[in-house]
Amino acid sequence: MHEFSTMQQIVAAILDEARRQHATAIYRVSLEIGELTFLGEEQLRFAFQILTEGTLLAGAELTIETLKTEVRCSCGYRGGVDYGLKEEFHLSFPLLKCPRCGGDVDILSGRECAIKNVEMEVPNAGIEK
Ligand SMILES: [Zn+2]
Repeated sequence: MHEFSTMQQIVAAILDEARRQHATAIYRVSLEIGELTFLGEEQLRFAFQILTEGTLLAGAELTIETLKTEVRCSCGYRGGVDYGLKEEFHLSFPLLKCPRCGGDVDILSGRECAIKNVEMEVPNAGIEK
């Protein structure tokens, strides 16, 4: 399960940071996930719930922001791509092509999987933003 192992790394990174800062509570976690990661939001939330049980992160609010894919082509095109049907998209990985000229493109965004923000209670330092 892709989502589970990804979330495992995210949760471990946040807990590490919380320990380092001697945080006493974590209120909110914001993640940025590119749509090309094929990570399902529901599965991520489920994994978060399981993995944070009994940790400082238990009960923290999880915000997931999905980042659209953006590509750049040598013809000058820059923008989104059209995948067609979502269902098909999951079955076979499509080659990303320029919607204007059909050429190969550079992927500018869509593969991110980042912790954007963590709000935690750090004694003598207030809320870390
Ligand atoms: Zn092009």
